[in-house]
Amino acid sequence: MSYDVVIVGAGPIGLFLACELGLQGVPTVVLERRTEIDPTLKAGGVAGRGADTLIRRGVVELLGDLPSIADMTGGRKPGADSLQMKTATAGSPPRGHFAGLWILRGGTTPGGAPIIAGQQVIEAALEKRAIELGADVRRGHALTGIDQDDTGVTIAVAGPEGPYELRAGWLVGCDGGRSAVRKLTGFAFPGDDGVITGHQALVDVDDPDFFPRGWHRTEHGLLVHGPMPQRVLAVEFDGPPVDRSAPVTREELQASLRRLSGTDVTVTAVHSATRFTDNTRQAETYRTGRVLLAGDAAHVHPPFGGQGLALGLGDAVNLGWKLAAQVSGQDRDGLLDTYTTERHPAAARVLHNTRAQVALLAPGPRVDALRDIFTALASTDEANRLLTDLMADLDLRYEVDVDHPLAGRYCPDLPLTVAEGATSVAELSRSGRPLLLDLDDRADVRDAAGPWAGRIEIVTARTEEAPAPAVLVRPDGYVAWAGEDADGLRHACARWFGTRA
Ligand SMILES: Cc1cc2nc3c(=O)[nH]c(=O)nc-3n(C[C@H](O)[C@H](O)[C@H](O)COP(=O)(O)OP(=O)(O)OC[C@H]3O[C@@H](n4cnc5c(N)ncnc54)[C@H](O)[C@@H]3O)c2cc1C
Repeated sequence: MSYDVVIVGAGPIGLFLACELGLQGVPTVVLERRTEIDPTLKAGGVAGRGADTLIRRGVVELLGDLPSIADMTGGRKPGADSLQMKTATAGSPPRGHFAGLWILRGGTTPGGAPIIAGQQVIEAALEKRAIELGADVRRGHALTGIDQDDTGVTIAVAGPEGPYELRAGWLVGCDGGRSAVRKLTGFAFPGDDGVITGHQALVDVDDPDFFPRGWHRTEHGLLVHGPMPQRVLAVEFDGPPVDRSAPVTREELQASLRRLSGTDVTVTAVHSATRFTDNTRQAETYRTGRVLLAGDAAHVHPPFGGQGLALGLGDAVNLGWKLAAQVSGQDRDGLLDTYTTERHPAAARVLHNTRAQVALLAPGPRVDALRDIFTALASTDEANRLLTDLMADLDLRYEVDVDHPLAGRYCPDLPLTVAEGATSVAELSRSGRPLLLDLDDRADVRDAAGPWAGRIEIVTARTEEAPAPAVLVRPDGYVAWAGEDADGLRHACARWFGTRA
């Protein structure tokens, strides 16, 4: 039996991609070597366009009751005890941090508010949704080999009942930073080796007040205590881990906490622990023939600023509809290759800003001075907005060859009134279909898109302060075209949604 798409990895990105393909009517097989969701503490939330993506697909409603930051910290703001936050935000709550400087006040662009949810909660919701949408999620099945030719990919799998083979039209590696898909296919993965050893853990200690809460640079590195009572993030700058695969031990965590805090704290229990470094690399291309990469398989970087999951969700929402079009044989020349052209620069920005954050987090008086100057500069309105937009990916713009300020940008969540009542861009985005928003009752615009009506949802709506008479929104939420020029609209429809509607 042959499948259209096999995804390797049921982490958040593989599962979300399976949902996206399912929405477009393409069922998938998802191979996952783990028998259960990985319980290790990783992302504590998702922000920026990744959060907006989960909202627009209705996933956020599947996450249950979510804590606010205040719930998690007992009313304290994150890092409320840290000197940097007190000085730089002058009492107003920060929107986020850059290198532990809690200075981000807000961007120029709406959206991107964080969703506070543990990675496991997000993965469980996505797995349920993916299965509902037709994915065959096979836990306990590890990919072991890949052989691709012109018509498809033969995949070797080690399953619970022994080895077997699968044939697929397309294979997507969402199998994390040490991706077997990437290595077996031979994707180039250039970048830098790490210089730090970090641990994130949930621990019991003999003295819970061994160190103040918040983000603190110390003589040896960075120690973050909180926002939840048992959580520590400990980062030392004396080289990468000797063995990244070895299990994290209680002794190793305790030694790091002692060095960083200058106390003799004793770790009495470890509930969850992970080790990381600032190995910063990116695949040169995200496609080799019929094999694609998404999420951490395509790019790795240190976790500062919590951007990895959001970045990967951006990959998956960009790839899903393009791969679905390819699978269903629609004539959209070069569409699939725009996945790399659009998403490679997006990840390069994250790699770049995390490199800068590592530099700004290093210990020592020179970096102290640099942080002081950086804080002063970043406190000016323009620099602050630039940093907020960068960290939440709000200013990302794809090249769509349309001359309008909204073209290529994320469509704002406009409140809309349609014949049936009130709705919004977010609500209309749940189906994953492209949207043509006619905001000025333009019959010529609706007629121009008429031949694509089977693929595009054409909505006549009113909104206060419409950003354009009409807006064509791709399934990933980015604006393919905006304006009133019917020929331009026809051209954009053909470019993104095929010439034979
Ligand atoms: C300490 C830390 C804190 C973080 N905090 C945040 C945060 O706050 N916000 C944020 O956005 N991001 C954060 N991140 C990043 C985020 O956790 C990752 O970017 C995210 O997990 C990437 O998802 P993924 O699906 O690409 O890869 P993964 O989550 O690594 O999933 C890959 C899956 O593939 C499976 N797999 C691997 N090899 C095979 C194989 N051969 N066959 C079958 N299955 C295989 C694995 O078992 C795994 O389930 C953090 C990361 C760390 C380490």
